[in-house]
Amino acid sequence: MASESERAAGHARQSPRQSVEERLPTPPPAPILIRPRTDAVPAETREGVFVHSFMCNECGLHFNLYSWQANRQRTDTVYCPECGQHAGRFRHWRGQLSELTGEQLHTRSGRQAMLNAPGEVYRHCPAPGAGLMADSSVEGLREVSHL
Ligand SMILES: [Zn+2]
Repeated sequence: MASESERAAGHARQSPRQSVEERLPTPPPAPILIRPRTDAVPAETREGVFVHSFMCNECGLHFNLYSWQANRQRTDTVYCPECGQHAGRFRHWRGQLSELTGEQLHTRSGRQAMLNAPGEVYRHCPAPGAGLMADSSVEGLREVSHL
């Protein structure tokens, strides 16, 4: 038989008078979305989702950068994450993954389209199946909504 403290902690049997909502299990918490403190690219200036693929001419590293602006990432602004080269010696490709603009995302239908779109950055980074590494940090990040 449950003690008074167990009943107080929610272990008492369910009453048939409980509403459906009261008997439903607690839903999982909403996902936490985070972004840096600085809004380097304000959502209002979003032109879509672009992937910039680079190959470093010095060390041969291939890497991708994602951006909401078509021309934000350039060979003269990126650093090679492997060798540190910053002299613009890269080959550069650009693809567009989503055409949803910041203006469209201020509408209910635009936000719904974003949640279903395969080209949104959150579907590509982290790469599917990638594990969070021990050197990760959440310092300096804050919770936000999609916009
Ligand atoms: Zn390099």
